[in-house]
Amino acid sequence: MTSIRVLDRSVAERIAAGEVVERPASVVKELVENSLDAGARTITIEVEGAGLRLIRVIDDGAGISAGDVPLAFERFATSKITRVEDLERVQSYGFRGEALPSIAAVAHVILTTRTPDAAHATRAVLAGGTVEGIGAHGAPPGTTIEVARLFFNTPARLKFLKSPAREQALVAEAVQRAAMAHPDVAFTLRLDGREAGRWARAAAASRVADLLGPGGVDDLIGLRGPVLAGTATGWLARPERSRPNRIGQHVFVNRRPVQSGLLRRAVEQGYAQLLPVGRFPVFALLVEVDPASVDVNIHPRKLEVRFKDEGQVFGAVARITREALLASPLVRLAVGPVFTPGGAVAAGVAGLRAQGPATFESMPLTLEAREAPQVYDPSAVRALPVLKPLGQLLTTYVVAEGADMLYLIDQHAAHERVLYERLLTARRKGGVTSQGLAVPLTVDLTPAQMALVSSHLDVLSTMGYGVESFGARTVVLRALPALAGARAPDDLFRRAIGALAEEGEGDDTLERLSIATACHTAIRAGDRLSPDSIAALLVDLAATDDPFTCFHGRPTIIAIGRNQLERWFLRG
Ligand code: ADP
Ligand code: MG
Repeated sequence: MTSIRVLDRSVAERIAAGEVVERPASVVKELVENSLDAGARTITIEVEGAGLRLIRVIDDGAGISAGDVPLAFERFATSKITRVEDLERVQSYGFRGEALPSIAAVAHVILTTRTPDAAHATRAVLAGGTVEGIGAHGAPPGTTIEVARLFFNTPARLKFLKSPAREQALVAEAVQRAAMAHPDVAFTLRLDGREAGRWARAAAASRVADLLGPGGVDDLIGLRGPVLAGTATGWLARPERSRPNRIGQHVFVNRRPVQSGLLRRAVEQGYAQLLPVGRFPVFALLVEVDPASVDVNIHPRKLEVRFKDEGQVFGAVARITREALLASPLVRLAVGPVFTPGGAVAAGVAGLRAQGPATFESMPLTLEAREAPQVYDPSAVRALPVLKPLGQLLTTYVVAEGADMLYLIDQHAAHERVLYERLLTARRKGGVTSQGLAVPLTVDLTPAQMALVSSHLDVLSTMGYGVESFGARTVVLRALPALAGARAPDDLFRRAIGALAEEGEGDDTLERLSIATACHTAIRAGDRLSPDSIAALLVDLAATDDPFTCFHGRPTIIAIGRNQLERWFLRG
């Protein structure tokens, strides 16, 4: 066996660098954060060859004094903290003093920097971590760092990189995240000499809206509320802009971009039932709290944070999100292709088809017609407009007219919402009313189903199911939830047992049972409805707390505006 030796400095540096400098995007992140820490107002990021050939970050921040330049590349050399207690309330991005030495260990670096009062700039040239030259140089105040030939001496790193296109996208994401958290700073991103992004100084809302994707500020739902002793601010995209993954989610804690699963889940919880399973909301959330209530030093690249009271943070963010969503009008507006005379019109019906199906956007329900529009009343915004039923379409949709709008209501989704809320109310009041069956029903079960039923007799009875066991494999069903009606009690009961079989405990079981019951009992597509039952459905839907989606997150109602009709008929 070989004896223990202290590693060569250059070897040790390269190993340590691996923690901080994982890929080109991590270099960009560290350099941009240094510029922000230096109070820059304008930051330019230039990247060539996906960041492996060159990364150049130019800022107009405070600069480094000539005497401090060599120190900047020493490990654990930082101007941002001095004592370990400072970590408790660190406000800057940096504090570990690791980024510059780590980057310098695995690339060629040229630093040019000048403080505002210095007569000239200082330029330092480094290769593989050692200073090869340092001297005076002509440059304006601020700092420019150039990182060339990244990973030239750690070929193993290169093997773990993704495709150049993907690495470049990660660089752009790092810049966008910094830009989101710093609307007061102007950013320019150049990729291979081409301008890929330019963000002028702006108000927070418009900067975030710009970065969250299509649609402006008006398309986002703002949120704001207290978290711990601080504040959560955020912008939520409407449910219909959800994605099949979490790519559109941006979370910041004290302006630090973090991958906090806790905060993402809290926001997602706020969207509960507004999105179908497997869809994820798009949002930006900025949490500002006392630095002492959050630990930022639990991850080498500072991508994670830990709150002193995670449960409280989760609850507060989920509630603020929920309130913001519930206070905003969420009826979807049907938007069809727009025709311009001579253009698509000339193409006729074929042109119409070529434009693809209509898309849905959110429709702001204006309050102008209401009595006191200046009074903020979430329940008023959330209310359905007054609807006049016109009839049924395709035995699936109810057609109705409201102020300047044509409405289509999915009869099944709407009724599901109505029944679900009724069950919820009944549960809160102690139990769901049951209705005895004229003829009790004997149901044969498998041993597994039998076990489920006997261990959930209390839950079933809370939900209005009257069940008695009768022999080893048989139960007698004597009553059903009163709202269930007489349709196929056997099926309904089996659905209920299916809901019991899914994972979960306590309240979750009741919730699943409510959903199964409402889903099975609701009017279905294909059911013919009388004018009376149509009217009743609309009245009942209007009485729900959350009339715009069913519990699966599908819309219950969409609107077609007068403007849209006029466009379709080429009236305007
Ligand atoms: P940290 O940011 O953790 O302090 P770094 O290695 O990233 O460590 O930077 C070391 C020091 O170099 C910083 O503390 C700061 O004083 C200085 N520095 C780095 N980049 C800049 C910059 N763009 N403008 C001014 N000073 C900088
Ligand atoms: Mg730093």
